[in-house]
Amino acid sequence: MAHDHHDPEDGHDHGQHPPSDMELRVKALESLLVEKGLVDPAALDAIVDHFEHRVGPRNGARVVARAWSDPAYRARLHEDATAAIAELGYAGRQGEHMVAVENAPGVHNLVVCTLCSCYPWPVLGLPPVWYKSAPYRSRAVIDPRGVLAEFGVALPDDIELRVWDSTAEVRYLVIPERPAGTDGLDEAALAALVTRDGMIGTARL
Ligand code: FE
Repeated sequence: MAHDHHDPEDGHDHGQHPPSDMELRVKALESLLVEKGLVDPAALDAIVDHFEHRVGPRNGARVVARAWSDPAYRARLHEDATAAIAELGYAGRQGEHMVAVENAPGVHNLVVCTLCSCYPWPVLGLPPVWYKSAPYRSRAVIDPRGVLAEFGVALPDDIELRVWDSTAEVRYLVIPERPAGTDGLDEAALAALVTRDGMIGTARL
């Protein structure tokens, strides 16, 4: 099977998806606006930052909050994550084949793309820079507990650590454990507790 890796940084797909017409037009427009001095690249960076931190991961947070709140939804998420996520309106490129991996008291999940930067865009938005970095991509597999420690997560030895390598076939969403003391919270309040790194597995809630 071809491994369709996509690196948003070079805007270059390896495999089945050539850049879409829209992507090419956006890129051309961006270059033109910067060249003419009409757009400050720093402003564009701020927009990217907005989607990386604010907009994108909130979709995934809603999926997690629904899974915490609704056992039937959670079951559907495990059965067919792509379909269950699409129920909430999140679908599209880089999210065609989703798998939900759920943390539990004895299990922690961590997601990486060892070859490049495959990432579930519809639920997490744009990948953070560190996710695309060579050290993360290699060390998440070689020394995942060390990587977690650098993120401030001291994972006890008796917790099994499962590392998932993203591919064209599969993109992963980590369902963190629901924090204690959140029984009375509605879905919106629960979603507010869910962080991007929690859904990659580099944080615990
Ligand atoms: Fe990749």
